[in-house]
Amino acid sequence: MSIMHDLLRSKRKDKRKDKFKKQPYKDKDSVRADEFIKHCTSCKRCWEYDRRNKQGSLHLYDNFPTYGKQKETCPICLSK
Ligand SMILES: [Zn+2]
Repeated sequence: MSIMHDLLRSKRKDKRKDKFKKQPYKDKDSVRADEFIKHCTSCKRCWEYDRRNKQGSLHLYDNFPTYGKQKETCPICLSK
């Protein structure tokens, strides 16, 4: 299973899941969370380090709004 295949599939699914996926954090946290979320132009996903566990743990967000996000290649793409 290729990554492209995965992306295509998740894009279709995300249309329905959009409402639920837009806010991974609770209200108060979501404003601050945005500052830490970066947009990977390689896999087209937003990502951030887990703020509670900074020892390499990552969160990836499919179909996350990318405007205003810093563009930074995620560690997963970097390690390919
Ligand atoms: Zn990436």
